[in-house]
Amino acid sequence: MSSSTGMAAAVVALAVLSLMGLVGRSQGLLKPFEFRHHDNEEMRLVLEDIAGECSDVSRVATLTEPSVLGTPLYYIEFSKHPGRHQILNPEFKYVANIHGNEVLGRELLLKLAHYLCEQYRAGNPEVVFLVRNTRIHLMPSVNPDGWQLATDTGGQHELIGRYNNNSVDLNRNFPDLNSIAYSNEEFSKEDNNHLLKEVNSLTQPLQPETRSLIRNILQIPYVLSATLHGGDLVANYPYDLSRSGKETGEYASAPDDETFRHLAKAYSQHHADMADPNMKPCNDENFAKNGGITNGAKWYALVGGMQDFNYLASNDFEITLELSCQKYPPASRLEPEWERNRNALMNYMWQSHIGIKGIVYDANTKQGVPNAVVHVTNMTEGIPREIKHDILSAHDGDYYRLLTPGTYKVTVQAKGFQPHTKLVNVVQRGYGTAKRIDFPLHGHNFQERPLVHANQMPFNGWINRPQPIVVQ
Ligand SMILES: [Zn+2]
Repeated sequence: MSSSTGMAAAVVALAVLSLMGLVGRSQGLLKPFEFRHHDNEEMRLVLEDIAGECSDVSRVATLTEPSVLGTPLYYIEFSKHPGRHQILNPEFKYVANIHGNEVLGRELLLKLAHYLCEQYRAGNPEVVFLVRNTRIHLMPSVNPDGWQLATDTGGQHELIGRYNNNSVDLNRNFPDLNSIAYSNEEFSKEDNNHLLKEVNSLTQPLQPETRSLIRNILQIPYVLSATLHGGDLVANYPYDLSRSGKETGEYASAPDDETFRHLAKAYSQHHADMADPNMKPCNDENFAKNGGITNGAKWYALVGGMQDFNYLASNDFEITLELSCQKYPPASRLEPEWERNRNALMNYMWQSHIGIKGIVYDANTKQGVPNAVVHVTNMTEGIPREIKHDILSAHDGDYYRLLTPGTYKVTVQAKGFQPHTKLVNVVQRGYGTAKRIDFPLHGHNFQERPLVHANQMPFNGWINRPQPIVVQ
């Protein structure tokens, strides 16, 4: 084809495409956001419109399996290079509407996606910096069937629509890793992370929505996330299951309790009134008197929740946000709720940049070392306090260790290498990226200590095992 015919063909093609409305969208006007309850099809259209208008920094995708009734589980991603993990860019996610009748989070995430696109295009320096330095995943509805049922029945019942279409509470359907973690603590077993490999049996079959979420959790090296619920106003942090089995009132601290309390406050204190003690509480407990946060088990214990699963199966730190007294607020409440939550939603995403990050690499070849174990001891108060929750480096050797300000001894080990220890001072920083501390590793000598996590591998194969695990 000559260049002139090529050009003519291209012009014709462009004309046809533009008639179809398929070009010029990246220069087009982003449709104004409508505050209303979007149904499952409208949700897809909103996400696709946003991704079309911000195509250089976003894309829409689905989790691996649809819901029981076949509705795809959509998410939108914002990053410098959508679709790929970028070395040294932390991965973040917000997940909403896992309880189908708790609908505020779903609309907040649609609006947040719209806001990120709009502000990125407008050159808002905060949003531009955040999007270029973080990979953000927004999943507005992981229980669209429950949402449909709640909506079709008026949305005002406490439980109708909470479950998926098999009547299963998805936030109780994750494998129970807490019991494994607590047993390991009790018997001084060193395994304290990526515990899915120790699961031998499930108490109930995994639902398609749960399987999809688990695959996503194992595939993406998430650093931080939150799941959005309704029915109260509080930021809830791990653990959700008590150690004794007590149903309420027993504080179950995670090894990263200090960091989790910081993360929960990073939301509550930036919300309009979650941490305001003068606000009337939604229910019996006045969480605002405690800064708008609560330990999960202290409030009420639950087994099989997504929050603790993230922490114990992956590197991800997750908290649970209860965002409104009303589970299904009227459409007229959506815009004011966005205003009450906007700063908190933004501030929380920034927390994926606290602590330290860096690359673990082979000092000889300069190649990144995946699955290196990053172990931290808090030295801030003079007496060493080990944090018994290690994180692992990702595929290219990059690691992210969320920490609050203080002094820490950080030891990195990997099979075939000598351990490398550094003393690190973490200081409070404004909005910016985490302090970078790299760990070059040298080949081991004869003083090698047995590795605690010699067999530690990200457990991507687990979910696809042909004969997975016994269901009791
Ligand atoms: Zn809920």
